[in-house]
Amino acid sequence: MSRIFSGIQPSGELHIGNYLGAVKNWAELQRSYESFFCIVDYHAITIPYEPEDLRARTREMMVSLLAAGLDPSTSTIFVQSMVPEHTELAWIFNSVTPLGELERQTQYKDKASRMESVPAGILNYPILQAADILLYRADLVPVGEDQVQHLELSREIARRWNARFGAEFFPEPQAKLTPARRIMGLDGSAKMSKSMGNTVGLLEPPDSVWEKLRPAVTDPARVRRTDPGTPEVCNIYHLHKAFSDAATVDHVAVQCRSAGWGCIDCKKVLLESMLRELDPIRERARDLQAHPERIAEILAAGADRCRVMARETMTAVKTIMGLL
Ligand code: SF4
Repeated sequence: MSRIFSGIQPSGELHIGNYLGAVKNWAELQRSYESFFCIVDYHAITIPYEPEDLRARTREMMVSLLAAGLDPSTSTIFVQSMVPEHTELAWIFNSVTPLGELERQTQYKDKASRMESVPAGILNYPILQAADILLYRADLVPVGEDQVQHLELSREIARRWNARFGAEFFPEPQAKLTPARRIMGLDGSAKMSKSMGNTVGLLEPPDSVWEKLRPAVTDPARVRRTDPGTPEVCNIYHLHKAFSDAATVDHVAVQCRSAGWGCIDCKKVLLESMLRELDPIRERARDLQAHPERIAEILAAGADRCRVMARETMTAVKTIMGLL
């Protein structure tokens, strides 16, 4: 069975953008692949943060992942810093990665251009990412288009290390491109993200979801109720495609184009579809939050499983490299 690895930042509760864009897909993939899902807290400390806040966000992310359908009985779900071999392998990869490769990374240039003083961790971030994946010798990494460059660097690092030590040890992980589902924020102007304040939380109560949906941006051509619209340009229509069944999506398009209903009617139907999917997730999250010991057990079991594999990899790597 092929092995997949995927990481997610400990950003607290998931929002529907990262649920639809990544985690829902992971819940599907875990049925067909040996799966490793990692909360990458070592990546998170490359930018300023508060320790208590990081701890809380990591726990909240774990609750969200489990509630969204990641299953600890079939997948390994763990926190990166609980498996120290991630940073150990990253150091080793530092020794075979040219600086120029790191400086060429678009995400590095992007982040660094907005910082007064750039921590080395921002530059070395893709090396740790390569270590995350290669520590488990994963074959596949589910990624969106925007992460393909980082994965290419992981492949390059695997190639360089194998060539340097004359060993075909690390596989070159392949991208498993996730279906392109770029969820826009409710302001309709940017990708849904916490930093833009345009998200709907995966665990938000129904009232609060509606408070956000009601004023959400739609097709600007629909100024009056009688103006026909173009569903393709409307974020609400794209959310229908994510949450509503095919018949409802067709109905939305017809009603929109013919001005058969107003945007509020359309959003009420969307709310129903969303709650159908989100209610059970919220329910599972409530149950997990009431039993924090269960979360701790799942994390410990995941880290134990990872440590065994990580030690095997590191023993082989160190032997090949002439380290004692
Ligand atoms: S009717 Fe629905 S799809 Fe059409 S513009 Fe309004 S909210 Fe968007």
